[in-house]
Amino acid sequence: MRIHFNGAARTVTGSQYLLEANSARILIECGLFQGRRAETYERNRSFRFDPTELDAVLLSHAHIDHSGNLPNLVKQGYGGPIHATPATANLAEIMLRDSGHIQEADAVFVNKRRHERGQPPVEPLYTEADAVEVPPLFQVHPYDQPFEVAADVTAEFIDAGHILGSAAIRLEVRERGRTTRLWFSGDIGRRDLPILRDPVLPSEADYVMMECTYGDKPHRDPAEAHREFHQAVLRTVKRGGKVIIPAFAVGRTQELVYSLHLMTAAGTLPRLPVYVDSPLAVNATKIFEKHPECYDEQTLQFIKLGKHPALAFDGLTYIKTVEESKALNERKEPMVIISASGMAEAGRVLHHLKNNIDDPRNTVLIVGWQAPNTLGRRLADREKVVRIYGEEYPVKADIATIGGLSAHAGQDLLTEYARAANGRAKGIILVHGEEDAAGALREKLSDAGVRRVVYPDLFTTIDL
Ligand code: ZN
Repeated sequence: MRIHFNGAARTVTGSQYLLEANSARILIECGLFQGRRAETYERNRSFRFDPTELDAVLLSHAHIDHSGNLPNLVKQGYGGPIHATPATANLAEIMLRDSGHIQEADAVFVNKRRHERGQPPVEPLYTEADAVEVPPLFQVHPYDQPFEVAADVTAEFIDAGHILGSAAIRLEVRERGRTTRLWFSGDIGRRDLPILRDPVLPSEADYVMMECTYGDKPHRDPAEAHREFHQAVLRTVKRGGKVIIPAFAVGRTQELVYSLHLMTAAGTLPRLPVYVDSPLAVNATKIFEKHPECYDEQTLQFIKLGKHPALAFDGLTYIKTVEESKALNERKEPMVIISASGMAEAGRVLHHLKNNIDDPRNTVLIVGWQAPNTLGRRLADREKVVRIYGEEYPVKADIATIGGLSAHAGQDLLTEYARAANGRAKGIILVHGEEDAAGALREKLSDAGVRRVVYPDLFTTIDL
């Protein structure tokens, strides 16, 4: 069997691996490559294989860097099954539509500039209508139940504890009388994340192909980050201000809502209005509520004791219309507003920032990694003046950054993950990580006695 590393090799974006076994061709992940616009368009559009010749697609979780190029794959003729867990299929459906919408808006923006330069317009990579063609191809499988992917190839989804529905994929390939077991990690979550169960460590694998996004960073305890979150909200309430949180609509938003719910239920936070203002977050929350089979024991207990859903409580409102969103500007009392996008590049959070950033009573809470050149990064870097919708605003609100809320395993757990398999595994294949991260993890693994670690180049092939 052979693996072609077509994406997320020596980088973290655009996950895509083609597995060839016997005569079957199986695509593992079909992520969107994200980077500079000129490079990404061509890279995402052109597959290095014929999509009509694939037998199956396996999807570990719904994040766009793992699923976001599926509409393009289907547009180019793929009509076979896309295997995923039930929650992943539901989340991917709304995320891909949202992504199609973004692709269309992006093409409008690019074409405006091209028109000014006298250049012909470009097509969007795919549209919302293209994204709608993907969900009918989903074939869903619960965790821990092996299923046939192709002749002599079976797969099984194992809980990865990263986002709702996320899975590692355990593959068994029988070829010429020999069975090879490949464990693909997907994105590895963390222990003690709110709502989700802990990631399952690999066992019984000949090869482990694993992510190493934070191979160079030990993480802090998530409980510590949630304590800081609590303190920041309390401080702001005391000042009579609003807390504005740019947050990713899927995962981070639900984690923050659940955390606020815990604080309210425990009586450690005064009763105050909390608003979730992002259409995608509202839809994602509905999907979270549909899949309690993905919750950890603690969350299930909390629901049972309080007899209420995890992501709803008195004082929490999910905003639906633009009018409701705008009406929040008129309100002066302390409140928490969680709104997308996560790096404050687009979406309704921009309005909330524009209206609240010049008041020293307010807090802007930065809760995730911010890419360079985004508004979120400028705020995190404590710039004194920022541009929003082309206008300059003085930053007078308190800016608080909370690290440690990552949904990815840190160096310690990655090391443990590789060690768990190493007793019997013939090799560890590092993917989905920058060179610094992979290098640091490799050293750590070597110290821990884990040998036979490879870190393949993009567009190379490994025979197993
Ligand atoms: Zn992910």
